[in-house]
Amino acid sequence: MLYLVGTPIGNMADMSPRAIETLRSADVILCEDTRVTGILLNNLGIEGKKLISYHEHNKASRKDMVTELLSKDLNVVQVSDAGMPVISDPGEDLVTIAAENGFEVTCIPGPTAAMTAAALSGIDARSIHFEGFLPSAGSARTDRLAALSKSEDTLILYEAPHRIVKLCEDLVKTGFAGRKVAFCRELTKRYEEVIRLNTEDAKDYFEKNPPKGEFVVVIEGNSASAGSESVITEEKTEELKEYLIKSGLSIKDVAKALSIATGRGKNEIYKELLDADR
Ligand code: SAM
Repeated sequence: MLYLVGTPIGNMADMSPRAIETLRSADVILCEDTRVTGILLNNLGIEGKKLISYHEHNKASRKDMVTELLSKDLNVVQVSDAGMPVISDPGEDLVTIAAENGFEVTCIPGPTAAMTAAALSGIDARSIHFEGFLPSAGSARTDRLAALSKSEDTLILYEAPHRIVKLCEDLVKTGFAGRKVAFCRELTKRYEEVIRLNTEDAKDYFEKNPPKGEFVVVIEGNSASAGSESVITEEKTEELKEYLIKSGLSIKDVAKALSIATGRGKNEIYKELLDADR
């Protein structure tokens, strides 16, 4: 049988008794990094387990091996380095293997950074879009953000600390100006912190307080998107325009951001900005 087992995201005490028991009874443990899982087992006093690496880069070549283990009726347990398997981590393919071949599969749930952040953020958690990691750069990143900015759902992102300042900049450029945002860092760990800001103040904050540790970013949904053309008032549009110009963006980028925020045509705004500049 296949077991997906959730492991702590920083605090060992979050390991559930059922998760410990499942690891104890495993014949084989598939893990992202055998060293990380080795430390976990060591902390739990579990010895002599067969650990096999299973990660993004070798999962395709492990398919036959996993099928063989399951067909021998062994207890195959899968864990990621931290948190829930499958959630921005490997595991999905294993569930597919089990489902397609008629092997039993279950999940022993544990903490996940996304939902811990959703609970702590103070931002509406009734309807959530979990995006995980964005593309790291370029138009793939800004286009994806621009598309996400139209949604009423609260958005949850995973982001590396060295990209947090860039994210703050990108959010304002892509239609998230004026929204509540919660930067949830080091969840369940000693230096856990939730930094609640407005997207427009975030870049400034992190330039003064360089981001450290692991981050989940929770961003308020677009409350004005339902049925309304313009998503912000005229006064706020003026404020946003001033802010974007002062941030040193090109007129083209300012026009693009204002177009996303107001629903008006990019070229029309671009012309107005050029005229005003003369
Ligand atoms: N499967 C994991 C889960 O269930 O949350 C996520 C794995 S993903 C590869 C790792 C990302 O999750 C980190 O880069 C960070 O964005 C987020 N993360 C993991 N642990 C965290 C923590 N303790 N505090 C804040 N963010 C965390």
